Amino acid sequence: MSALPDTALVVGGGIAGMSAAMRLMDAGAAVTLIDKDPEWSVYGAGITCSALTFRALCDLGLANELLSMGAPHNVVALHDLAGGSLLRTIPLPRLQGETMDAGGGIMRPDLHAIMSARVRSLGAEVRLGLTVDAVSQDADGVDVTFRDGTTGRFDLVVGADGLFSTMRDMVLPNAPKPKFTGQACWRVMFDLPQEWQGVGAMFLSPTLKVGFTPCAPGRMYMYLLEHVPDNPWRDASEMPGILRNLLKDAGGKVAEFRDVIGADTPINYRPVESVLVDGDWYNGRVVLIGDTVHATTPHLASGAGMAVEDAIVLVEELGRHDTQPDAFRAFMDRRLERAKMVVGNSLKLGELEMAGAPMQQQAALMQASTEASCALY
Ligand SMILES: Cc1cc2nc3c(=O)[nH]c(=O)nc-3n(C[C@H](O)[C@H](O)[C@H](O)COP(=O)(O)OP(=O)(O)OC[C@H]3O[C@@H](n4cnc5c(N)ncnc54)[C@H](O)[C@@H]3O)c2cc1C
Repeated sequence: MSALPDTALVVGGGIAGMSAAMRLMDAGAAVTLIDKDPEWSVYGAGITCSALTFRALCDLGLANELLSMGAPHNVVALHDLAGGSLLRTIPLPRLQGETMDAGGGIMRPDLHAIMSARVRSLGAEVRLGLTVDAVSQDADGVDVTFRDGTTGRFDLVVGADGLFSTMRDMVLPNAPKPKFTGQACWRVMFDLPQEWQGVGAMFLSPTLKVGFTPCAPGRMYMYLLEHVPDNPWRDASEMPGILRNLLKDAGGKVAEFRDVIGADTPINYRPVESVLVDGDWYNGRVVLIGDTVHATTPHLASGAGMAVEDAIVLVEELGRHDTQPDAFRAFMDRRLERAKMVVGNSLKLGELEMAGAPMQQQAALMQASTEASCALY
């Protein structure tokens, strides 16, 4: 006896939803996955796989694809932004043993391609360009009305429709809304210099941190967070100039990258928003996971990993308990405090950056957060 469903609907085909679909199908469920995007596409930025995110994706069974399409790294090298000189090298914790890489990076579209191929090959019914209009439930199932007028009945519904979730509004109407954090994230791709192979690099000044993550063979992305208290609208045409100006005090290699940023450079700019549901993430037979309930800022590079962990833990607990309520309670016991730590510490790191807090204070919180997030989930 277990609470594993025979049929499940997953709403949202991002990292959380695809992870849940994979795990549920592994456990024998028939899964329908819907996404509102008719193309099921993702924007073309890189993501950094912290030790937490890397472990979660490996636990999902994606290590080989991750290593062949992405790029691993085992150390982060800290440099002075103005002069470019190396300050120190920090080894990343190897959570899967000494023979496995610690972390790395991958292009989001590549990760999406890996995961969506797996979801389809496991046999999910994937319906695109579709949203949910209404859910109603009784003791035995959930009736769902889709936007196209079709309906379905499922043993379990997983809401994984991200930061601006409509499932959250439907299922937990009193949940908080996403909030702008005061920062915006810039991301740009470059060719990876030979000497930065296998290294995550960070360049620090009293007012700016600029990071580089290898994310595909021979390629890396640069990221930086800017303090933008008024959250200004920015036209794509003005972005290269703003970004070059943000990097005006950079020296060495970073100055070389800055100087090639021009009108044709694809730039990903995104104001950073966050949300945390500090309470149950379920209502009856509908459970919410991923950014829908704990969208974090990029400071710990762990949002994707937390989404995957949710899916893994959810299906583990459904398999361990006889009833969904028991499984959901056990799921919350394992997830809520951890999500509060990751989201809370990420927000705190952003606040310290915006306040110009001493680097030692920021480094201490980063270190404590990394240690906490490396604990078993
Ligand atoms: C700037 C930035 C940088 C980041 N960098 C990192 C990083 O380096 N490392 C890391 O681990 N994490 C990072 N993250 C976090 C990570 O991207 C997210 O935590 C992760 O993508 C969450 O996955 P998700 O599936 O919950 O949500 P999403 O990825 O947002 O997926 C939601 C899916 O639901 C679909 N959808 C939306 N609404 C509906 C609807 N009504 N009906 C049906 N479908 C719907 C969407 O089309 C989408 O496919 C970063 C986030 C940001 C904003």
